[in-house]
Amino acid sequence: MKLWNKATMGIMATAGALALTLSGCNDAAQSADNGVQIVSVPQVTQLLKTVEAPPPVPVGPAPSGTYDIFKGPNYTDRVVLTFDDCPKSVEQLRQVSEAAKARNVGLVLAPIGQCIEELGQGVVDIARANGQYVINHSVSHKALSKLSVDGVIRELSAPGVVTNFGRPPYGDGFFTTPYSANVVAGYEAVNMKPWLWTVDTNDWKGKSADSIVSYVLANSGPGDTVLMHMNHNGFNVESVVAMIDGLRARGLEVCQAYPGGETPVTLPESLPC
Ligand SMILES: [Zn+2]
Repeated sequence: MKLWNKATMGIMATAGALALTLSGCNDAAQSADNGVQIVSVPQVTQLLKTVEAPPPVPVGPAPSGTYDIFKGPNYTDRVVLTFDDCPKSVEQLRQVSEAAKARNVGLVLAPIGQCIEELGQGVVDIARANGQYVINHSVSHKALSKLSVDGVIRELSAPGVVTNFGRPPYGDGFFTTPYSANVVAGYEAVNMKPWLWTVDTNDWKGKSADSIVSYVLANSGPGDTVLMHMNHNGFNVESVVAMIDGLRARGLEVCQAYPGGETPVTLPESLPC
């Protein structure tokens, strides 16, 4: 099986930051990102005697089974609404992020690096400040399977979003098996897991906002990841609210905003959806 399997083994879904420091080097790096001091096992033992463990990092349910590249780090029955590429403006992204947060919804936003260069880091920071989840979507939206491993690594690095989950442009490299070896190697080299989708709205074909909303409501089921784009007609407050309200009216819940405020750069291996 693919090396993504190994990821589920290292997950400490309910463990606190102290426990993270006890695990392998990857987790240690993550702890460093979280601002947690890395200490030796004897030091940890001493710490445990003298201080209480810090509050656990909010995470979702314990991951079950092999990592599913189509459902990503969502192990709940909640529907994840995802938007790729680039918003029309930072203001538009702010409005949508705030509207989602106000309804306790966490959208997944996947801006490309060229978008961040053009519109500024606010594209990422404003989303995270509102509890939204920001993942990588490459620097320049190339079909990754046509690149060398080094080329894939470059596409998965800054100025693109540097984090631990990413949506490969077009799903390229993962839509047929065997997966593209170069693309798999590139994702592994940067400690990033691919996250594709289970429902494709085809919003980029020029569909109206109403048509996109209707498609989402008619085709989403428990645990689905819905693919849309920030630069097409479903990414506005009215449409996103209609999706949220409509899904809830159908008895489906939507991925929740990151609890307690700002979403971390490195996402939990199981999202607190
Ligand atoms: Zn895209």
